[in-house]
Amino acid sequence: MKLKRLAFVLFVVFLAIVAAQDAYVSHLRNRKVEPRNYTVVLSLDGFRFDYQDIANTPTLDSIQQNGVKAVGLQTVFPTLTFTNHYTIATGLYAENHGIVANDFYDRQARKYFTMYDSKTTADSYFYQGEPIWVTAESQRIKSAVNMWVGVNVNIKGYSPSHWMAYDEAVPYKARIDSVINWLKQPYSLRPHLAMCYIEEPDEVGHKFGPDSPEIVNSIQLTDSLIGYFVSQLKTLSFSDSINFIVLSDHGMAPVSEEKSVNIEPLIKPDWIDTLIYSPAISLVYCKKECDDSVCMALQNVEGVSVIKRPDIDTAFHFSANKRIGDVVILADSGICMKYKDKRTLPGGMHGFDNRNPLMNGIFYAIGPDFKTGYAAPQLCNTDIYELLCRLLEIAPAHNDGHLERIECVLK
Ligand code: AMP
Ligand code: ZN
Ligand code: ZN
Repeated sequence: MKLKRLAFVLFVVFLAIVAAQDAYVSHLRNRKVEPRNYTVVLSLDGFRFDYQDIANTPTLDSIQQNGVKAVGLQTVFPTLTFTNHYTIATGLYAENHGIVANDFYDRQARKYFTMYDSKTTADSYFYQGEPIWVTAESQRIKSAVNMWVGVNVNIKGYSPSHWMAYDEAVPYKARIDSVINWLKQPYSLRPHLAMCYIEEPDEVGHKFGPDSPEIVNSIQLTDSLIGYFVSQLKTLSFSDSINFIVLSDHGMAPVSEEKSVNIEPLIKPDWIDTLIYSPAISLVYCKKECDDSVCMALQNVEGVSVIKRPDIDTAFHFSANKRIGDVVILADSGICMKYKDKRTLPGGMHGFDNRNPLMNGIFYAIGPDFKTGYAAPQLCNTDIYELLCRLLEIAPAHNDGHLERIECVLK
């Protein structure tokens, strides 16, 4: 009898918790007031967690002193640009948001996705999950997004109120100016969320490597761009209400031609429908019952691991999506694969195991909602979406992040 009563009490408590959560979500969705503060996010492609230590970075130093700096930002696998920008936007692992690499094949739809073709990057078919600007717009919060992965796609019927598709020809300062101009608009048009993307220091990191003198120059140039952004934000009448986050999508490992492994002679063309090659990770779409042949041919090759999709370690969160292919070939850190690629390999690469510290990115933040002079532990980029929802006071869509792992950065 006592047990029955206890079970009844527990059931009532459970119902009360569910009802309170529903009420909170419905309160956020139906809110009439705009969020108090503004949030601006700047992504610097390939800015490794430790780059601040090897260059002169007065702007980042000042953000660190007056705001938050995390030890690093853990990326998701594979540590590539498209995958991680879309993870930051959605809070989802690659297997759940569908952008499983910069280039991949979808067998079901018989469609290739490649970041080099704007027709494919603009095809909404590929984008699963809900980016933060869709979550915001659907809850009547305006957003402005400059060149972020996924911005050129209408998702669930929404696009940002103001946006610009990726265009490498637009100089970095002009991109920052666009964001400032969007923020300068009258209150009724002004976005509460603004996001901006810059390619550096990734390009120099690839070309010369993360240990080169050239990367030091690129870090310093990037720091001065952040300085320009901060100085422009300060000219706005509501600058005290702006939260500014600087982050990156992944790090960079040194590589060299001598350490490359040519996998081409080992894979018989008869075994494969398609092989999507990149130096750190290749996706193999095998002909029927040929996955064992591919695995056997590569299993003893030093410097690479070959894994069938269902056998991929669950820690990667990289198996529950058929776009990954049948077999994944992953190079060890610092090793690069070659496959029908006659070019000399560059000085730096990413795409490797996301538990490799060299793949970690950055997280800096400053503004009214952030702690001052706070050294945060290593954060996960899957949690940024939840953080942004909290800052914008909106209800998050389903995602893989955890607010409790990142809320330590908030006051
Ligand atoms: P990767 O280093 O190969 O992962 O990719 C970095 C490159 O991706 C950058 O140098 C940009 O040229 C390119 N990129 C970044 N965002 C976009 C985008 N939204 N559309 C097309 N290309 C992009
Ligand atoms: Zn990148
Ligand atoms: Zn890169």
